[in-house]
Amino acid sequence: MIRSFASPQLYIQGPGAFDTQLGQLRRLGNQALVVTDQYVYDLVGKSLISNLTVVGIHGCPFFIDSQRETFAEQMRAGTLTAWVADLLGVSGDKEKEFGKLFVIGLGGGGALDVAKTLARALQVNVAVLPTSAATDAATSRISVIYDEVGVFQRYDYYETNPAIVLVDSQVIFAAPVKMLAQGIADGLATYVEARAVWEDGSSNTVGTRPTLTALGIAEKCRAVLFADSQQALKDREAGRLTTAFEAVVEANILLSGLGFENGGLSLAHAFHNVLQGNPDLQVPRTHGEVVAVGLLLQLAAEKRGTEFEEYYQLLHALNLPVSLQALGLTLEPNQVKKLVAGILATKKAGNHLPAKMTAADLLAAFKKMN
Ligand SMILES: [Zn+2]
Repeated sequence: MIRSFASPQLYIQGPGAFDTQLGQLRRLGNQALVVTDQYVYDLVGKSLISNLTVVGIHGCPFFIDSQRETFAEQMRAGTLTAWVADLLGVSGDKEKEFGKLFVIGLGGGGALDVAKTLARALQVNVAVLPTSAATDAATSRISVIYDEVGVFQRYDYYETNPAIVLVDSQVIFAAPVKMLAQGIADGLATYVEARAVWEDGSSNTVGTRPTLTALGIAEKCRAVLFADSQQALKDREAGRLTTAFEAVVEANILLSGLGFENGGLSLAHAFHNVLQGNPDLQVPRTHGEVVAVGLLLQLAAEKRGTEFEEYYQLLHALNLPVSLQALGLTLEPNQVKKLVAGILATKKAGNHLPAKMTAADLLAAFKKMN
């Protein structure tokens, strides 16, 4: 059986990284399209673009809140390169003037997904600069595709991972504390899902057997989050950027990102995707909040009683939802049946479910989570 492992070429993390480490991006090119939104631009984007010039990179913002439609039109018309050259104020037809282009994704999930899509369309490198640790999407070559109203559509796979992931822990520290907690929930699901894939000899998101490396990373992710996450949140509340905080940032972004992509996904994310993909049931909660409940649902369906208690206690202490009600869900029996059928059918979307898990196990788990 083939096993494989995918990752970015370079990961950098630390306080002030957006000021001191931008030179690392120079190897990707000298013209950067910075995909972001107006809020993040005002917060960090403007000064980042000005700092890029110091290391010899000309940057220009692309706002997902106002320019996404134009981007889609240019994609359809096949005129994307010329349009990007226009944005950057350079001539697209002269290689010398245009320089070497790359894309920077700056912000949260939406900006990062558009940045990855844009880089693929332009066939250039992408650097990811997340401004929160609310999910583990930064390092992966997977984008989650939602429609205009936020309903989950599918996973989209790119040929390569982002070339560079650059994390300024001072910027993550400034983001709302609840985003860090949501990222912890996403990170806690990583090991539980990777283990389900591993134990059944199933495939990861790359479509091969997971490596021992991936399982080791997922185990480390769990260990760090159990050891440090409560302390990290306390430190964040007290305004202290500590070792525990840095460790949780790395666990949420790097360990969890490499762990889920290479270890594989299972019931926790299947629950998220099926629930949020159903217009009648979807809840206005974040990825991490829904995954927190999905994670407990998985442990319940796997009948891992002691572990269920451990994860429940931790998620509860972190102020994350630990029941269907906490997500704002009151499900009729026929809705539960629909969800269970949807979850069982989700295998073809890339989520592995334990071979011995039955519809009855899932129904019992939903009952427990009520
Ligand atoms: Zn996730």
